[in-house]
Amino acid sequence: MKFLVFIRTEFGERLWKGEANSLQKAEEQAIASIDADNKIISDTSLRCNWHWQNNLECGDTEHCNICGNPVYWDGEEYYCSYCAQQLRQSEDSGELYPHS
Ligand SMILES: [Zn+2]
Repeated sequence: MKFLVFIRTEFGERLWKGEANSLQKAEEQAIASIDADNKIISDTSLRCNWHWQNNLECGDTEHCNICGNPVYWDGEEYYCSYCAQQLRQSEDSGELYPHS
């Protein structure tokens, strides 16, 4: 799975993008990659597929193919914050790793 993580530091916002087997691992890697004293994750998103959806206020915008929420755009890649939240909940509840 590929993740996009935003991290707030004393120097401003930093971004980490990379692959990990779980959201928890992605956030650990993101935090470890940033050289700063204060590191707070402000958002974690999961790479997703997307489609155009007409929005009355701002015209066509990109939405996640899985959950329908607006997605982040980074180069040619799209990332969904909502799907990452769903993943976090299933990881927290142990659904993904019932035997560990
Ligand atoms: Zn989504």
